[in-house]
Amino acid sequence: MIRFENVTKRYRGTKRPALSGVDFEVQRGEFVFLVGASGSGKSSCLQLILREESPTSGRVAVLGRDLKSIANRKVPYFRRSIGSVFQDFRLLPSKTVYQNVAFTLQVTGASRGFIQQAVPEALALVGLSGKEKRLPHELSGGEQQRVAIARAIVNRPQIVLADEPTGNLDPGTSVDIMQLLARINAGGTTVVMATHEAAFVDQMQRRVIELRDGEMVRDEVGGGYGDTSNVPRLEPEAIRGAAATAALQTVREVHRETEAAIAEPVAAPAPADAPRNPRPTASTADDAPPASPPIVVPPVDLAELGVADRLGLDTGDDEEVGPVS
Ligand code: ADP
Ligand code: MG
Repeated sequence: MIRFENVTKRYRGTKRPALSGVDFEVQRGEFVFLVGASGSGKSSCLQLILREESPTSGRVAVLGRDLKSIANRKVPYFRRSIGSVFQDFRLLPSKTVYQNVAFTLQVTGASRGFIQQAVPEALALVGLSGKEKRLPHELSGGEQQRVAIARAIVNRPQIVLADEPTGNLDPGTSVDIMQLLARINAGGTTVVMATHEAAFVDQMQRRVIELRDGEMVRDEVGGGYGDTSNVPRLEPEAIRGAAATAALQTVREVHRETEAAIAEPVAAPAPADAPRNPRPTASTADDAPPASPPIVVPPVDLAELGVADRLGLDTGDDEEVGPVS
């Protein structure tokens, strides 16, 4: 789903490459933490995935395409299959919550009917129903980040990239945001989250890719991933108190709840012909829900929805792989 092949990124006018010889592959449905100190190259990785930057050497492939082969004019369409969340939320300050989320769809030419259905669904998913008319400054930081997440997923992207999404939030709110990203991932969306809070992710039992000065020094799947003994380990730092532990527990609980709620777990990379979760989002709260029913986002096939054309997306049948005239 995302593949880096020996990727080196050198910014003009800098001595040291921001990334050097980075190699990894992320499968569909994975939740990957990209960790490392400030300046280690995390944001550069995410920018390469979005084709906001190009590698100096090596290859980046996303959703089965070598990003070099995507014509410039097609890049906006490509980016529609990726939702992005940032540390500083990046909401439009003069637009309401609803408008901030709808805006993404409006610029892509989605129909009014689709917008009217998709925006409330996305807001419900992030727990912001009823706050549609608020302006960003009338919301807490955590709520603003929820709006940003709703905006990132309203298009039903296959991949969500989050760059330090909890960086501006207090620990308790960070837990909520982690919980939300875990739910989104449990619904089948691939999530790559950059964070410098290494101690926190160490215990998450999720895959961790660690960068140090642009070099990949660790790639570990939680619970054991081959022989990683020759990969330098990060010394666990002092854990940031109870918040980190609470976040960890919450994410685990959500995963357990979600796995119990859906017949076939879809969080793990599934073979292409695995049965899809047939239930629509709204029906997960049927028969005797737990105290806080998990929100399940079923994987959505844009072709099935019949919205691919409106969103200007290729449905995958006729992908361009060669040069475009
Ligand atoms: P992180 O997100 O882990 O903090 P970045 O990817 O932002 O790391 O940065 C990695 C390195 O690349 C840093 O040394 C940074 O100064 C440099 N860098 C990032 N973006 C640019 C840019 N646009 N121009 C020049 N140098 C950059
Ligand atoms: Mg960064």
